[in-house]
Amino acid sequence: MALINCPVCHKRISSKASVCPHCQAQTNGDNASLARINELKKSGRLMNHSFIAMTLFITGVVIWFWGGEPAEGMRANIAGVCFAFGFVGYLITRLRIVLHKRKSL
Ligand SMILES: [Zn+2]
Repeated sequence: MALINCPVCHKRISSKASVCPHCQAQTNGDNASLARINELKKSGRLMNHSFIAMTLFITGVVIWFWGGEPAEGMRANIAGVCFAFGFVGYLITRLRIVLHKRKSL
C-alpha cells in the first residue's frame, strides 16, 4: 500500500482509497469543482476575519470618542486594545487575502 497526496487538500492518503477521508475528494476524478468550493470557503473565512477585525477597530474608535471627550484611564486602555488588535488583525487578514488570491491565480 502506497501513500499519495490528496489532489485537493494535499494530505497523505492511501493510494487504494477512492475518496479522500479528509475532504471527500475523489482521488481519480474531476475535483475542479471541489477545489473551487474549498477556495471559496477559505476566501469566505478570510473575509469574515477582516470583517471582525474592522468591527474591533471601529469599536475602539467609538469607545475612544464616546461622550465627545478624550478617553482617560480604563476606557482609554480598552479603546487602545480594540484599536490596536483591530488594526493589526485587519492588516494581517488583508495580507492573507492578497497572498491567497495570488496563490489561486
Ligand atoms: Zn483531501
